Order: sequence, then C-alpha cells, then structure tokens
Amino acid sequence: MNDSVRVRFAPSPTGGLHLGGVRTVLFNYLFAKHNNGKFIVRIEDTDQSRYVPEAEEYIFNCLNWVGLQPDESPIHGGDYGPYRQSERKEIYKKYAEQLVRDGFAYYAFDTQEELEKMRQDFKTTHNHSQQYDHSVRMKMKNSITCSTEEVNTWLKEGRSHVVRIKMPKHENVSFKDMIRGEVHFDTSVVDDKVLLKADGMPTYHLAVVVDDYLMKISHVFRGEEWLPSAPVHILLWKYLFGIDAMPQWAHLPLILGPVGKLSKRDGAKHGFPVFAMNWTDKNNSEKTEGFKEKGFLPEAFINFLALLGWNDGTEKELFSKQELIQNFSIDRVHAAGAKFDYEKAKWFNHEWIKRLELIELKSKVKDFFSAQQFEINDSTFLEKVIELVKDRCTLLTDFYPQSIFLFETPTQLDIASIQPKWDNKKNIFFTEWILQLTEMINWDATYIEENFKALTNLHNIKTGDLLLPLRIMLVGGKFGPPVFQVAALIEKKETIKRIENALKLFNS
Ligand code: GLU
Repeated sequence: MNDSVRVRFAPSPTGGLHLGGVRTVLFNYLFAKHNNGKFIVRIEDTDQSRYVPEAEEYIFNCLNWVGLQPDESPIHGGDYGPYRQSERKEIYKKYAEQLVRDGFAYYAFDTQEELEKMRQDFKTTHNHSQQYDHSVRMKMKNSITCSTEEVNTWLKEGRSHVVRIKMPKHENVSFKDMIRGEVHFDTSVVDDKVLLKADGMPTYHLAVVVDDYLMKISHVFRGEEWLPSAPVHILLWKYLFGIDAMPQWAHLPLILGPVGKLSKRDGAKHGFPVFAMNWTDKNNSEKTEGFKEKGFLPEAFINFLALLGWNDGTEKELFSKQELIQNFSIDRVHAAGAKFDYEKAKWFNHEWIKRLELIELKSKVKDFFSAQQFEINDSTFLEKVIELVKDRCTLLTDFYPQSIFLFETPTQLDIASIQPKWDNKKNIFFTEWILQLTEMINWDATYIEENFKALTNLHNIKTGDLLLPLRIMLVGGKFGPPVFQVAALIEKKETIKRIENALKLFNS
C-alpha cells in the first residue's frame, strides 16, 4: 500500500446517485488503485434539511453493484473515522473558533428578517439579491461591528448565530488543478460563506477542508460544479493548516446530456436512466430508473463511464476494470464537458454481454427472469439458451422477451403476419412434416433443417415461404434466433405440439 495516496468520495446523502456521482467514484477509485493507494468514502451529512435517511445505504448498494469497494468508510471502518460528518460535529467547532480567534472568521447574529432586509436594501438592477460580503459586512450585526462585551453577552445567552469566513476584500487566490492547470479567483466577488451554522453543524466548506486534512487526503477528484467554492477552500487551508498541506485537486468535466448538463429530466424525457440504481423519492413517491434495473452490466457501466472524460490515447474502447486501473492517468482526463450518448452506452453493454463469462451471465439472467416471476431451475438448459440468444440482447432485460418462448409455449402467436399468405398447400406440408418429425431420431438443428428443406423440394414450395410460418409457430413472433436451433432446443415433443396447435389456429 502506498500510504501517501489517499482519495475520497464524499457524497451528501440527499437522493439517488447520478451518473456524474458514479464517475467521480470511478476516477477516485482508479487513481487510488493505480497508485496502490486508498479509496475512502466519507458521508457528508451535515445539511439536516436535505438529509434523506435511505440515501446512505443506497449509495453503498450502488458501490457494491459496480464493484468499487472503499478501503475505509462508515461501514468498512478505518483509522481516520468517524467517516460520517454528523458524528464529527465537535471537531469542526474547534476549528471555527480558531478561525474567529485568528481574525479570519467572525460570529454573525443577523436574524432572517435582517438578512432579508439587507438583500432588499442593497439590491440593484444588476444584482437582484445582495450577498453577505465585504461590501455589506460592516453594516450588519456581527463580531466585527459589535463590541466585544455585546458579543460575549450574546454568546453566553446562547443567542442564535453563525460563523462566517471573512473573505479578503481583494485578493487573488489560485491553485493548480490537475486537469485545468492554473486557476485564479478574485475574492472580491466571493461572499462571506457560513462555516458553522446556528445548529452547531459545519457547512460543507468548513467540514470538507477539516476532514480532508484530518483524513490525510492527498488528491481530491470532484465535479466541476465545486470549482466556484475553491477560493473559500484555499483560504481555509491557508488559515488552518498551511497551503502546503493542501491536497492536489482535480475538477472533473461535466457530463452533458442532449442539451447542456445531463439532468434527471433528460432521462425522463428521452427514456434513459441517469441514476446507478432505482431510486424512489419518499417525499413525492417519484421513481427514477437505474442502470442496474434497466439491464446494464456493471462491467459495461464503468467502462462507458470511464470514457466520459478519459481515454488511453488510442482508439481502444473496451476496458475491463483491471485494464482501467492499469491505464488510468489523470493527465488524460480532459477539461471539456463529456457528452453522454445512451445508444453508445447500450453498445458497451452489448459488447460486455458477449464477452462476459457464462457463469456470471447465467446468474444475472436468472435474476432478471425472477424479477418477471419466472424461476429457472435447469442451469444446463439456461446455458444453452444464453449461448443461443445473447447476440440479440443489448440489455439484460432483453433476455426474458428474447428467450421466454424457449422455456414455455408462447401464448400468443402473431397470426396476422402469416394469414394473408396461408393456404392449404402449406397446411399439407406441415401436416406431413409432423409425421417425419415424429420418426426423426437425430434431433439436432442441422438435421432438422435438412429434413425440412428436402420436404419443401418434394412439395415444390420455396423454403423461404415456409420459414416465417414455422417461426410464428415456434417463437410466436417475427424475431428470435435461427428457427431450427429453436426446434432443437425445445425438443421434439414440444416442437410437434407447437406446430399442431398453430395449424389448428391457422386453419380455423
Ligand atoms: N458533499 C459534496 C457533494 O455532495 C462533495 C464535494 C467534494 O467532493 O468535495 O458532492
């Protein structure tokens, strides 16, 4: 193990896990494993108003499904716990007080009404809601504007207050992003962010810096949406631990949908999932479909996700997890947004269905049949079925409709597609073929096909004219694998039964 490489995924348990979130997990994981380091999961649950109790378990279920297991987390343990921020409340308070003592932060006692009044009073045509910053700070009720006695009395009385960072009026802060290079910010446009809330909980800004320090995080990979928060974090690092202690940061490119940033709404509109697994919002019972339940293999899921922002410099597209670990390098992650293409994602899944070990595919297909209330007990038969239909399956959910007719007699036959051309000649042909099938000893696809063709010659009918009726008889519809292989697999008795029943229907 390389103790110097420690990375973390730090989700807030507020809902389902979006594609972007899993891609962040993946890049953290690949970087850690490539460098023999550690991958940590820290639950950032300090925002009680957005906290969703089921979300943490859901996140770990998703990680389990994709096979990206943390080395340290609230459930995996580790030497730097607790790994849930709500359980570290006391730690942050100490740092907030240190910042106040050192003059980098201050107590603010403004009530909601006072804050609202300030936003209104100072709003202009260009600025619809004034933020709490250096320009208004001196007009508000805080430990900079009020006397020490007053402040001490209020603190003793337990008056509701927050701790805010005192953003320098005009300072240029910068850092070197691993993907974007040098990034600069002017602090004059950044507000005095709250660091510690009235309920004593830290905000993300304080907690993320303190925990990255205490958990000895060496590299931070997070979404591009966190870039605007960087100046606050850089200053906190500088004030609390020294800028040299700061991890290296990489802000990952956005994942783009059909228009702009990929959203849950895009998924709903275009019929593709955006969450890793199914998620139900308890507040409004809204269900959002997941890649897992849609029928994606975790192998395909992480493969296409890796390529949303990264490539190995060649044309190669199919990578196993092991290959991704070997080849991953942050130098090859680009800064521009990466477009999510659902059709391409399905292509990856199709490729992975074709290359996955049969034993693994078998258990997954079984699960998808169970989800349709159909239990498969004959494992050898299932193997044959999979070999026969897997080329036709893009999603794991395709296996059921693509092969259920191999397990049970189809209940509905697409008669409409053969009826216009059905005639007595064909009826006679099939009636005679049944007799031949009954006598047949070698029941294999080639033999059945040869026998069928010989008889069509004898009856002087084109084989092509009889293949569709035969398919409808055995499969039920105009789809499926080669029809003689279907016959071979469902066995003689069942084949004959299906033809006989279909003839009754066709002739009625
Ligand atoms: N808790 C933040 C989130 O929900 C984590 C951001 C970070 O990785 O610093 O995305």
